[in-house]
Amino acid sequence: MAERPAPGELRRFLLESQPLRGNWVHLGGAWHELRAHAHYPPPVEELLGEFATAAVLLAATLKFEGTLTLQLAGDGRVRLLVAQCSDNFKVRAVAHHDIAADELPNFAALVGEGRLTVTVQSETTTARYQGIVPLAGANLAACLENYFASSEQLPTRLLLAADAQQAAGLLLQKLPGQSASGEGAGAQLQQTWEELQSGLMAMPAASLLSGDAEQAVRQVAGEHDCRLFAPTLVSFSCRCSAQRVADVLRSLGVEEARATLAEQGVLLVQCEFCNREYRYDAVDVEQLFADEANLQQGSDSVN
Ligand SMILES: [Zn+2]
Repeated sequence: MAERPAPGELRRFLLESQPLRGNWVHLGGAWHELRAHAHYPPPVEELLGEFATAAVLLAATLKFEGTLTLQLAGDGRVRLLVAQCSDNFKVRAVAHHDIAADELPNFAALVGEGRLTVTVQSETTTARYQGIVPLAGANLAACLENYFASSEQLPTRLLLAADAQQAAGLLLQKLPGQSASGEGAGAQLQQTWEELQSGLMAMPAASLLSGDAEQAVRQVAGEHDCRLFAPTLVSFSCRCSAQRVADVLRSLGVEEARATLAEQGVLLVQCEFCNREYRYDAVDVEQLFADEANLQQGSDSVN
């Protein structure tokens, strides 16, 4: 029997003496579950693994209740990448592409010209934040660093790695302000920041993918006094539900639903994140729109 992969983990860390912090993420078993129903060729698999990891790293930099969606849309061979991470680190992701199993396009050919969008949507209110940057960089990490530089104005460095077995990443961030005062404090902070970045850039992908958080963080922080926080679980979970599918079908309209039904005998909606199938027969479809009509009547009478 194959060994069960370790659960996905997020570890936050910070330097005790400087306003520098970081997040380490290893998707563990979540990476396997996330792709359980899809078959991606290796270059797409690697990109999607890095992308899903990046969504978790970004979510970990925020204080929010809701869902962070990272989306990459371009004119390359991968037309669309979507990764979502909730405030409790449930992650899901999908890629649309036209790459054959034996092709090995590079990053530029994979994504082409396009843009990277970060959306944070509250679960309980209509509050929504969105940041968009053009794709610029030799790899996904560089594109995300560009996002942080232009949208968040926080100096940020990222290292991402993924293969068929593992997906992991490490993010470093320089926060505003200085903890140490006095002459030379700014220069000292800058020097420490540069040391941490050098440590990150020197890290081989294998170290990141090994799943050893202590080792990876020590490698980056070097001699600096660093606090590594307890792990937070990262898991795969799909947000799809009969309610959400019903909302989508209603937005398409009763005519389209009836037409599909007439043509195919049954209305099937398959979730592209988890492959779960939602099935509607003629009675279900009429019920779906009858509910809507009742709701509208109800609100009319109130108004
Ligand atoms: Zn689903």
